[in-house]
Amino acid sequence: MQNKTTFRIYVYGICVLGGIAVIYAIANLDSNALSWWTTFLIVSALLITSRLSLSLPHSKSNLSFADTMIFLSFLLFGGELAILLATFEALVSCLYLKYKKVFFSTLAIPFNIFSTALSTFITFMVWKALPSFGVSQDFSHTPALISTLAILALVQFLVLSSFAAVFYTLNNQANFVSVWKDVCFSSSMTHIAGAGLAGVAFKLLRYGDLLTTLVSVLIFGVAYFTYRQMIKNINESINQAEEAEREKANIAHQKAVEAEQHAQQLEVLLEKEEQITHDLRQSKRDLEYAAFHDNLTELPNRAYLVERLNLLMELGIEVSHRYFVLFIDLSRFKNINDSLGHTVGDEVLKIVALRLRRLMRDEDTIARLGGDEFAVILNDLDSMEAAKKSAQKIYEKLSQPYVIGGTKVFSDLHIGIAPFDVEHVKPEDILRDADIAMHHAKQKNVGLEVFDKDIRSYYLERIRMETELRYALEREELTMNYQPLISLTDGELIGFEALLRWHHHEMGFISPAKFIPVSEDSGLIIPITVWILKETCSQLAKWQKIMPEYKDLIISVNISGKHLADMRLVQDVKNALKHSGLPPTCLKLEITESTAMDNAEHTIEVLNKLKELGVQISIDDFGTGYSSLSYLHELPFDTLKIDRSFVMKSGENGENSQLLQTIISLTKNLQKKVIAEGIETEVQLSLLADLGCDYGQGYLFSRPLAPDLMEDLLYQQTTWLPTIKEEELPAQVERISNEESLPVF
Ligand code: C2E
Ligand code: MG
Ligand code: MG
Repeated sequence: MQNKTTFRIYVYGICVLGGIAVIYAIANLDSNALSWWTTFLIVSALLITSRLSLSLPHSKSNLSFADTMIFLSFLLFGGELAILLATFEALVSCLYLKYKKVFFSTLAIPFNIFSTALSTFITFMVWKALPSFGVSQDFSHTPALISTLAILALVQFLVLSSFAAVFYTLNNQANFVSVWKDVCFSSSMTHIAGAGLAGVAFKLLRYGDLLTTLVSVLIFGVAYFTYRQMIKNINESINQAEEAEREKANIAHQKAVEAEQHAQQLEVLLEKEEQITHDLRQSKRDLEYAAFHDNLTELPNRAYLVERLNLLMELGIEVSHRYFVLFIDLSRFKNINDSLGHTVGDEVLKIVALRLRRLMRDEDTIARLGGDEFAVILNDLDSMEAAKKSAQKIYEKLSQPYVIGGTKVFSDLHIGIAPFDVEHVKPEDILRDADIAMHHAKQKNVGLEVFDKDIRSYYLERIRMETELRYALEREELTMNYQPLISLTDGELIGFEALLRWHHHEMGFISPAKFIPVSEDSGLIIPITVWILKETCSQLAKWQKIMPEYKDLIISVNISGKHLADMRLVQDVKNALKHSGLPPTCLKLEITESTAMDNAEHTIEVLNKLKELGVQISIDDFGTGYSSLSYLHELPFDTLKIDRSFVMKSGENGENSQLLQTIISLTKNLQKKVIAEGIETEVQLSLLADLGCDYGQGYLFSRPLAPDLMEDLLYQQTTWLPTIKEEELPAQVERISNEESLPVF
């Protein structure tokens, strides 16, 4: 605010003083000065020379010829006219520039006019004072002219530029010295050049003749226009250079902008990449989690357990017996899945996982191995007793019913316990031992079993047997033996039981009691039975063909529980009958009582289908399977076979015959036929015959025989009851005793 006031005071002050200077000039103007010549000078100063200007390269200021006129008027007509001329010239210039749309602030025009008037006045005062300082005004003398003009130009420049600098400084709150240096200093050229030209013109006008003047004006004109052209060219090239510079700067700016954009894009890309890396890391973590965890229960999986066991084994066996592996298997889980659906099965598994998590300590590792199998590593326990205690807790907790959607689901389980041992080199070793112990528990039908090395050799033997059995069919090591089934009423042969034999190429004869359970566990019994069905049906069909008197003989084939549970059984039987051409009524299928009762409803369904084919059904080993009488009633069977143990128990004097009597009566009541197996003595035979047993099978009639031996006997029309003496059958007895004396597993 204060600055503004100062500025205004300054401008008004200059204007007032400039006005006084103008008034002074008018008042003191020599009337003689106003001639045609002066008028010409004023008009040309105002109209022509003020427009004649040369722009200086690298400078914002123009070289104006108005100054020349002002200094010339000083020399020719005195300072008063010079003041007026300068004032008018400033006025015309300002109006001209305003007309050209150059912006002027309100006070700028009067300031320009009156500051010019004032500065010219001051220059005039100095001019006047010059003689008193010894400066000659004899202008015929060129040094006097030059020094006078130089002083005038200097004063005019200093005063005018100072006025302008103060104006600018006050108006813009700038620094006086730098304003004067940057903005006003360049105008010194105008004054100096103007003074120089005025000197030349003065000399020509005052001392030169007309021709010299004309030549000079001509030379000046040519020089002026040449110089103008040159300046124009210089300015053009400067402009071009500046344009090129600007373009360069523009390009550089453009590049900088592009670089900036690039940097921003790069930043975005980096951010994206970071996001991708983060996502990748996340998905890697997810993958790792998925690789080591079970989806359903979220428990660690087998891979994780193996890694953990690996680590423990790497830690060293000094810590042995402080770690125990529990192998947990839910029995009958398949039944839950089959009968209640997989959703319920899944829920059971989840609850098992939950219960295990709650039971186990943080340092223990729980894993789901797959299906209904789980494992636990008991960490850092001091004794087997402690491990057993933990296993017992698990057993009790997991045997409790699972309540799913309001329904109680029951599942039994078996746990095998194996301690870490020096013999365990790989995680699979200890897992296998725990698995073996679990299998043993299953076999013994107990909750827990601790691993010991005898169990291992037993199971390893089984594993080996299973492996060998896989090749037995291919190697033709499996054969069939046939044991006659005899009618106890008339001693006639009614058929045979087909019994499987395995002669291993290295181990020799292997008892069915050993390999049949293995083949059942491994599922191999199914392809083997398919082969047996074809083999035995074809054998009987062949005998019936060559000996028509045997056309009603039957062949009794043992069917395992595994096969009975498999829907392919009916088709397998069909195929065998079709393949052999044997009438279906000549084929009897033996199903043990325990198998039949295991899943009675399913058994009934399958047996009905088999019966539809026309084949006969026999319930084998009856008396050992705790039959439910109601189910027995519904079972579609033809014959009931009394287990050998009941026949063996019956003594010489008919003791223990009560059970035999009961079974036979039961069968009669059900209107079925009854057959007794394991008849070895004539006493047993007559007891059974007396009790009304329909058929018999046993060593008393014949041991199971190879087909060629049986064929011989068939040809010989052997009488089976009761006269077959062992000495009559040397070959077959020899073969049998060989069998029995061969090494077995
Ligand atoms: P099983 O079906 O009850 O067969 C009767 C078993 O009693 C046969 O034993 C037979 O040799 C034996 N045996 C017959 N009469 C007497 C006798 O008077 N005294 C004595 N001590 N034993 C007698 P094997 O052939 O060793 O078969 C044992 C079991 O193996 C069979 O019992 C059957 O459960 C199973 N098996 C045998 N062959 C097959 C087969 O082809 N398929 C299936 N699934 N199981 C078979
Ligand atoms: Mg049998
Ligand atoms: Mg039997």
